[in-house]
Amino acid sequence: ADLTKTKFYPEVRRKLHDIFGLSSFRPNQLEAISTTLAGEDAVVLMPTGGGKSLCYQLPAVCDTGTTRGVTVVICPLLALMINQVDALLEKGIDVAYFNSDQASEESSQVTRRLRAKGNRPKIFYITPEKLKHSGLVTRVLNEIRDDGELARFVIDEGHLVIKWGRDFREAYKYLECLRTNFPGIPIMALTATATQQVKQDLIRILKIRGCKVFWQSMNRPNLNYEVRQKKTVEKEIVQFINTYHANETGIIYARSRKGCEGLAKKLRENHGFKARHFHAGMQPADKQDALQQWQHGRCKIIVATIAFGMGIDKPDVRYVIHHDLPNDLDGYYQETGRAGRDGKPADCIMYYSWNDVNQRRRQIRDNADSDFREKEHQEQEILRVAAFCQNNVDCRRTQVLGYYNETFDSILCNQGCDNCRDPSGIEEEDVTDMAVKIIRLAEALVDGGKHSVTRNQLLDALWGKAGSSARGTSFHSHELFGCGKDFPRDRSERVTDHLEHLGVFISVSKQNGEWSAAYLEVCRFHHWAGLLSE
Ligand code: ADP
Repeated sequence: ADLTKTKFYPEVRRKLHDIFGLSSFRPNQLEAISTTLAGEDAVVLMPTGGGKSLCYQLPAVCDTGTTRGVTVVICPLLALMINQVDALLEKGIDVAYFNSDQASEESSQVTRRLRAKGNRPKIFYITPEKLKHSGLVTRVLNEIRDDGELARFVIDEGHLVIKWGRDFREAYKYLECLRTNFPGIPIMALTATATQQVKQDLIRILKIRGCKVFWQSMNRPNLNYEVRQKKTVEKEIVQFINTYHANETGIIYARSRKGCEGLAKKLRENHGFKARHFHAGMQPADKQDALQQWQHGRCKIIVATIAFGMGIDKPDVRYVIHHDLPNDLDGYYQETGRAGRDGKPADCIMYYSWNDVNQRRRQIRDNADSDFREKEHQEQEILRVAAFCQNNVDCRRTQVLGYYNETFDSILCNQGCDNCRDPSGIEEEDVTDMAVKIIRLAEALVDGGKHSVTRNQLLDALWGKAGSSARGTSFHSHELFGCGKDFPRDRSERVTDHLEHLGVFISVSKQNGEWSAAYLEVCRFHHWAGLLSE
């Protein structure tokens, strides 16, 4: 259908120009806007930076919709909420918000405004927690609905309603009842996480079967992806920034709070960069300050944990560096997605080491707050990240988008990732022999689960290193000790790491010999094509 023919179009068009100062729609924006104005439910899946906000902010200021009045936006993050509210106020839009940080005076003023029949704010932002726990809010919303002035519910970061999502919020569960509690009020859920599973779960949980789904390729054509072995990471980061992005804005993700602080300090003190750290353990005022400095360009580099990011809207981030691995590929996509929101080229570099993978696995195992199922899930996710890093053959986009079940033809990558830029590195080599020796050796060392060995102990024994600590000197006379002394070091490390991520060594200790036939099969199947090239 031609959406420019709907009765809403003239007003939508006018407001796009007059209020938002924009001249045209991006893909799916007009579609989503028309749907909600027609009173239908919608799920909007758009990549980060795709322009999700406009999809609900524009209809909120239109008077032509099937339902009119207040657009209630459920928004998980305070910083995001405040950013958005400020931007809307600047545009002269009547907006109100409710969160748990507000003084009671301020919130009663908000309540008054929400009760002013016929003169209510156009947009009302609220956190899921406030919506769930405040009886007052529920009463006010009912009042608004009874007056026929509840236009729609909008659920930002919609994937958070899903229990196994990476940052599920308990209060989001309440949203399951929105449809039942407010029948007939259109719902719009927005997300940048577009697996089929997320889509189906969203629709099921929100009970919006029959909604319109607007799906868009997750590809970010202006981002350039690269994975590097973690060796001299700090030196490389400094060099990279000085060479390509001097004085430009960037984000460096690190795993630990201490790591962030340390790296930011080094960048400042040893290299003269304007760098700050950011993590969840900081005082709110310090966080706010770091964020503001960075947002306004007074500090160029933010070194942060994953606490930093959701809802950060800085269009000119020119690079995102993963100093440490993300928890999963969705995290990788979201975090790198904060680069280049203005559509101009930006670089995403990730540093990888097997040590980091193992560190994460230990962290998962030792986490007392998660149950077995969750641990298993998280472990699979980090192994997937490892596989991504180790795969230096397939297009990075094809790999990441594949995570979301999106098929991406690497031709379209246009040399936008390390693997597409340098296919020359691929050489096939059959390393079955090496793999078999490593597996046999591991089996001998573990001896049916009686002992355990670390990766480095295994490698030392493989190379026949004197004083190798696995099983002590008594193992030195074992026939397999030193069976790989002629293997090139880096190659045997990579084969070992690859076997590890295939799960071979878990099986070694678990299944006591049963694995070998299966994994020989795997070795033959893969031919180790390219996985071992440098
Ligand atoms: P996200 O999907 O990540 O929430 P935003 O809604 O924050 O994205 O939008 C990202 C950027 O794109 C913002 O700077 C916004 O002003 C800009 N933008 C959104 N829609 C349009 C449009 N139709 N034309 C030009 N710029 C747009």
